[in-house]
Amino acid sequence: MQRYGTLKFLETKQSAVEFAGVCLAFRGTCNLHVIQHKLHAARVRYTARVTTAISTSAEYIESLRGRNLEVYFLGERIAEPVDHPVMRPSINAVARTYDLAIEHPDLATAHSSLTNRRVNRFLHVTESVDDVVGQNRMQRRLGQLTGTCFQRCVGMDAINSLYSTTFEINKVYHERFKQFLIKMQEANYVIGGAMTDPKGDRSKAPADQSDPDMFVRVVERRDDGVVIRGAKMHQTGCLNSHWILVMPTMRLRPADRDYAIVGAIPVDHPGLTYVYGRQSCDTRAMEDGADIDLGNARYGGQEAIILINDVFIPNDSIFMNGETDFAAMLVERFTSYHRRSYVCKTGLGDVLIGAAALAADYNGAAGASHIKDKLVEMAHLNETIYGAGIAASHESQKTLAGNYQPDDLLANVCKHNVTRFPYEIARLAQDLAGGLVATMPSEKDFRSEAVGPRLRKFLQGRDGTSVESRMRILRLIENMTLGRNAVGYLTESMHGAGSPQAQRIQIQRQMGIEEKKKLAKNLAGIDD
Ligand code: SF4
Repeated sequence: MQRYGTLKFLETKQSAVEFAGVCLAFRGTCNLHVIQHKLHAARVRYTARVTTAISTSAEYIESLRGRNLEVYFLGERIAEPVDHPVMRPSINAVARTYDLAIEHPDLATAHSSLTNRRVNRFLHVTESVDDVVGQNRMQRRLGQLTGTCFQRCVGMDAINSLYSTTFEINKVYHERFKQFLIKMQEANYVIGGAMTDPKGDRSKAPADQSDPDMFVRVVERRDDGVVIRGAKMHQTGCLNSHWILVMPTMRLRPADRDYAIVGAIPVDHPGLTYVYGRQSCDTRAMEDGADIDLGNARYGGQEAIILINDVFIPNDSIFMNGETDFAAMLVERFTSYHRRSYVCKTGLGDVLIGAAALAADYNGAAGASHIKDKLVEMAHLNETIYGAGIAASHESQKTLAGNYQPDDLLANVCKHNVTRFPYEIARLAQDLAGGLVATMPSEKDFRSEAVGPRLRKFLQGRDGTSVESRMRILRLIENMTLGRNAVGYLTESMHGAGSPQAQRIQIQRQMGIEEKKKLAKNLAGIDD
């Protein structure tokens, strides 16, 4: 099994080296040769790093090193994202998915008919209703373990929706896609899904924009592939992936043919630039001696913009190219999967409910009836999210391709709940935590000789509790409701997988209002 070079790149090793040499002679002479050079250079680099399949979290982290990605953060190019203190917590969160697969194979792996072996569940094409439900169970557990976004669900939902969509477009795309999946499963890679375009003027379709690059598009069609240009926004975990699946973001018209493109690109392909997004309190991770102040020092999420500057995709990595009729099918299937994937937030909710209960306990208020009632309310909201998501998975239906697709109405209800309930859970957590969650002095002050002893004296809670434990829990609540993981718990809950209005449109389409009217008329004795 190969970790790198598992696609066409490995098969073309010899010619890639030869072409790279030839291409040097032409470098910079014309756009075509620049693009060819980029492709061939990428092939050489991938084939040079052949090793075994990724198994552990340590191997995964090692696989991300030395990729020479073009990453910018705070205006500077980042030499090695793996070692960057702001980025590393997001890598740790993905790494946790590898360890969970070893610790709990029933939860985080599944038997794949494609490779006839157990594979990581994030790379598995569902073969039963139980497989779809299993995704939700794994997502909740990972939310509990990391307290943040662990980033791999976008790829999982993309491969499942592409598996059935390519089947319905034509055999060529479907076979290519199966070959791609086999290689991904054999190497145990992380796949990122790239869907959201900048969109420019949202009242206009892609081909009607004054700047045609506002949606990712094909700028050149060649016998051996296509060249694409544009950008993808809010890309969850893109830097922490090995491959990215580029997909259209909305329903397309025949005039939008150049925008109907789906393809796989290695994350370190030349021509891809990543601009890392800011998160509230992110630079605390760059301070010396900050551990408690981070709230959750180990894990964080990741969002970045991907700038796609004339990137070549060879034919064997293209899974849709101009079939505008199927763009809506792909987008709807993906969003159906991904909207019920947001049960991940119930794992984070479990952490926050536990933190709120501990804060009340350290305060000596755990026995108060209104505290107990608020904890019950938080649990009720959290389980309501989970209830809709897991129901969507249980109601899955078999597609023509043979994999399973969640119930779209319930998936949208799940995601719509997620746009609201975490905010109420966060409000209640802050209520139980008290104002100190926003006014607590820093860890450095607590450790200073000048004020530390007096701070510890006055911040002592119930007898027998530790001041440091109290600080740690309050910082965790701050981290999830105001700090860097509030991005994952709140803002991502609001806008990830579509903002609330997108779900309301889908709910309206599928709520069956005419059928409901008939039920009412029947019981009321109305015949017209
Ligand atoms: Fe997965 Fe949730 Fe992150 Fe989406 S927001 S990638 S569903 S953990």
